[in-house]
Amino acid sequence: MPTRALLTLALLLSSGICIAQNEKSPSAPALPKDIPSFDVDAIDKSVEPCMDFYQYSCGTWMKNNPIPPDKSLWGRFSALSEHNMYILRDILTEAPATQTPTETMVRTFYASCMDESTIEKKGTYPMKDELDRIAAVNSKADLIKQIAHMHRNSTPALFSFYPQPDLHDSANTIAFLDQGGLTLPDRDYYVKDDPKSVETRKTYQEHVERMFKLAGDSPDLAASEAKTVLAIETALAQASMDRTLRRDPKTRDHKMTVAEITAAAPNFQLAEYFSESGAPKFSALNVANPDFFKKVNEQINGTSVADWKIYLRWKVINDYAPTLSKAFVEENFLFNGKYLSGQQEIEPRWKRCVRATDTNLGMALGKLYVDRTFGAEGKERTEKMVKAIENAMQKDVGQLTWMSDTTKKKAYEKLNAIVNNIGYPDKWRDYSSVVITADDYAGNSVRAGAFEVARQYKKIDEPTDRKDWTMTPPTVNAYYRPPMNDINFPAGILQPPFYGKAMDDAVNFGGIGVVIGHELTHGFDDQGRKYDAEGNFKDWWTPEDAKAFEERADCTAKEYSSFTSVKDDKGEVKLNGKLTLGENTADNGGLKLAYMALMDTIGSTPVKPIDGYTPRQRFFLSFAQIWCQNVTDQEARKRVLTDPHSPGRWRVNGAVQNSAAFQEAFGCKAGQPMVSANACRVW
Ligand SMILES: [Zn+2]
Repeated sequence: MPTRALLTLALLLSSGICIAQNEKSPSAPALPKDIPSFDVDAIDKSVEPCMDFYQYSCGTWMKNNPIPPDKSLWGRFSALSEHNMYILRDILTEAPATQTPTETMVRTFYASCMDESTIEKKGTYPMKDELDRIAAVNSKADLIKQIAHMHRNSTPALFSFYPQPDLHDSANTIAFLDQGGLTLPDRDYYVKDDPKSVETRKTYQEHVERMFKLAGDSPDLAASEAKTVLAIETALAQASMDRTLRRDPKTRDHKMTVAEITAAAPNFQLAEYFSESGAPKFSALNVANPDFFKKVNEQINGTSVADWKIYLRWKVINDYAPTLSKAFVEENFLFNGKYLSGQQEIEPRWKRCVRATDTNLGMALGKLYVDRTFGAEGKERTEKMVKAIENAMQKDVGQLTWMSDTTKKKAYEKLNAIVNNIGYPDKWRDYSSVVITADDYAGNSVRAGAFEVARQYKKIDEPTDRKDWTMTPPTVNAYYRPPMNDINFPAGILQPPFYGKAMDDAVNFGGIGVVIGHELTHGFDDQGRKYDAEGNFKDWWTPEDAKAFEERADCTAKEYSSFTSVKDDKGEVKLNGKLTLGENTADNGGLKLAYMALMDTIGSTPVKPIDGYTPRQRFFLSFAQIWCQNVTDQEARKRVLTDPHSPGRWRVNGAVQNSAAFQEAFGCKAGQPMVSANACRVW
């Protein structure tokens, strides 16, 4: 499952992902039918399971489910997200005689997003205040104040600033300064020289130019502005650390006093920034990438105030674009959706507005979603499965031959300390201070973004709030957080195809069971293993055991680096086994743990085959079918650079070719593709 990504501002504070389009009628189609947990019709029987298990499990599904024009990736996983979206749409469009303040707020937000005629009339007006402020910037001191102002409104620029638990004292949350300021999805887009990267930068520059023109600039001016933006961002990218390197917490561990970082990068005028940021006063912080600040320090000096103003102006236009008139929305889609991801059409307006409401007021909308869909029994049955999988992990660690008893004892401590959060937070967020009005979609998004930034800043120099969720309840996803040592399963994922009330144990353990095992394993992957039971970055391994782990992890990294993600006329792209190491380790570990838990549950009593498959076979098929997907080449290319997860095909085939239990269940023989000659096994 996706990531235990530490929150980044980009993710956390985006002020609305609403990308608009023309839509004749606001009425949307009815809720599609439920997604089956186990789909015999998805199977392609013309393929041998031991030759290509992903193709066997998903081949017919892939043939019958092409990517809808408004998506760049379509899988059974995304079909569930789509299903949830219809439920949210219903919640947001009902108009009962009386409603709670929460209902009024989310419905007003949604309606403001749907009101395209008001949005159209306003044109660029929603950005006016912000652009006027940038126009008034006269010095580098003004510049840093303006960046603080933009950050407060959740508009990213130049670097990032956010709270995180102290790496060495996770009970306390402190301020983090970090690299940032790019617009393309990764630094590699700016620094690589292959023809595709060169083409992407050229296309990006043309897009920036068109956006400046839409904002009212003359063609000549817009062309030179776009050049300036690309030059500034390229320099920021050159100062940025590679995503793969950043996986190791050691590379991000630099506690400094405010005086120290201010002296190391004086041109940032950080004292000014902090006092304007609205964050509480603090004397020490963690600088995740000090080199970035040192290098960009020179850039601040060497770039004129006029050029910095162009860059800030771009960051505002880009951030506001999805909430503005049709021309902005379309241009934004043509580059980010169509060119970068291969999506043919923009999503219908209502879907974008549901997403925007979830992004901006997700814990309010989430409460309504939970009231409607998730009963107490949902929480209970998930807790039971989590327990079963935790027991399996306890047993699995006990059986490891490469780990000493000393390290095992510490591993048990960590396992027993993991906190399970299921469904939704204990306490609902109070958004009552956010002003939401019917005729101001862009303003609503900015105010909701600013509310979230202020809420985050309040965490600085306070005890860590371990109960604060980072995903909203309708989300079809799950996560592990190393500094919290917790696993979290939003209500949105606890339904078919992951969990079906009427399904046999084999299918449910292959679905949500593997997800639970996956999240647990994250506590012990290449990153997670470096944090202790309390969530501190602390080495609890004997040197020999650490070495044995690294050797095993290295096997997995090499194995996945040999898998191809895309092969088209632009060339062949292989997976980055080091970037995806944690997720691949979790996929392999999760599959093993869930299988062990299933065996404990069904015991040795013979169970009759269902649909012609034994329980063991159903377990592996259920797991594989979660990942049935079709993806555009463009999206696949983007993900290789940015996504720590492998694509569906390799999440399945990579894990089963390392699994003796799978090979036994399907009678695979040595030499067949689904039997790795050099099976990699960490957990
Ligand atoms: Zn994961």
